[in-house]
Amino acid sequence: MSILVKDASYVVTQNKKRQVLKDVDIFVEDNEIREIGKKLKAKAEHVINGKWKVVLPGLVNLHTHAAMTLFRGFADDMDLFEWLNKRIWPIEDKLNEEDVFWGTMLANIEMIKSGTTSFLDMYYFMDEVAKASQKTGMRGFLSIPVTDKEFSGDKDRITRAESFIKKWKNTPRIYPSVGPHSIYLCSAENLQKSDEISKKNSTILNIHLSETEKEVKDSLKKFGKTPVSYMKKLGMLSPRLVTAHSIWVSEKEIQLLAKSGTNVAHCPISNMKLASGLAPIYQMIRHGVNVGLGTDSVASNNNLNLFEEIKISALLQKMKHKDSKIVNAQEALDMGTLNGARALGMKTKLGSVENGMLADLITIDISKPHLYPVHDIVSHLVYSASGSDVNDSIIDGEIVMKDRKIMSVDETETIHKFESQVQNLFSR
Ligand SMILES: [Zn+2]
Repeated sequence: MSILVKDASYVVTQNKKRQVLKDVDIFVEDNEIREIGKKLKAKAEHVINGKWKVVLPGLVNLHTHAAMTLFRGFADDMDLFEWLNKRIWPIEDKLNEEDVFWGTMLANIEMIKSGTTSFLDMYYFMDEVAKASQKTGMRGFLSIPVTDKEFSGDKDRITRAESFIKKWKNTPRIYPSVGPHSIYLCSAENLQKSDEISKKNSTILNIHLSETEKEVKDSLKKFGKTPVSYMKKLGMLSPRLVTAHSIWVSEKEIQLLAKSGTNVAHCPISNMKLASGLAPIYQMIRHGVNVGLGTDSVASNNNLNLFEEIKISALLQKMKHKDSKIVNAQEALDMGTLNGARALGMKTKLGSVENGMLADLITIDISKPHLYPVHDIVSHLVYSASGSDVNDSIIDGEIVMKDRKIMSVDETETIHKFESQVQNLFSR
């Protein structure tokens, strides 16, 4: 397939110089960006009108549990452990493959419609998450979860993680990996086994770390170390590792994260909603930690619109430090694009609009009252735009949304199937 985005009013390239180009064309062939320039001669099968549009790299949702769209609005206004124990875990015990498939289908449509083109997921029945991602055309980084309950010394479970990776490894747009849930649900042995699997298969490693104050207190009691120091002791801090939340971390732990090249998925809305705390991402950025953004699941957000995380991540730090100059618009946009791509091990392939990069692009319609006038387009993307302004989405060189119409699957039909699946689940 070839695509020509014609006369794009702005291209926010996110390249090294953070260039913003005006009135240019972008030519995409197969799954790559081939040429960017004025009045390109290239002939393409599909043309997208770029007038009054901004083109930017597709957003990267660095932490979510997509299928939990099933639980949107089901358990609000509770603290994390009560929320998990009383509401989420009991209903999750009843989940089957079909629930996860349709939950992910809806999530993927929601993500595409709000600008996300890659997501890092950890959930049950990951084969279904992979199938739904293939169907919708999303780029899925899929971590098969590991907990003691599932592993429980059963060697087959380790084989299961490895066979999931083997099964999906060479599938376009699917990047299987392993996700030990947390230090409180995984023994040291299972954490290290997960790390070995990740290392052996050159995949990322995905964990929830230092999400609550309680987790830190428990960790000190049980291991005599804070969660990050404990991970260091296990030899698990590395550029392959993506830690979600990482709210309760000291200056010394931030240095450990930075030194080891460990990546952090900051989930400000989930953290606010569950009152887990505010991650020190300003200090992390200052120390050189790579910080990307995640929505976390819909059950604690309650949507998958990453534009909200981009804006709020900047505002919260300004508020916390009483300094309006820190975490500026460019840094916030970097977190939602480049930094996420880097955390996924894809910095040379995703996160910027440049020749030779994979064609994951979105366009934003700027002919809207809340986006006039344009003094600074990056400021608009961070502070004024919303997921509903996303007009088109190209993933891996395929148009998955055009003029807000999902091209890969039937949106209305998916919503109906999802709805009846929810009815089925809650009456089980
Ligand atoms: Zn999570």
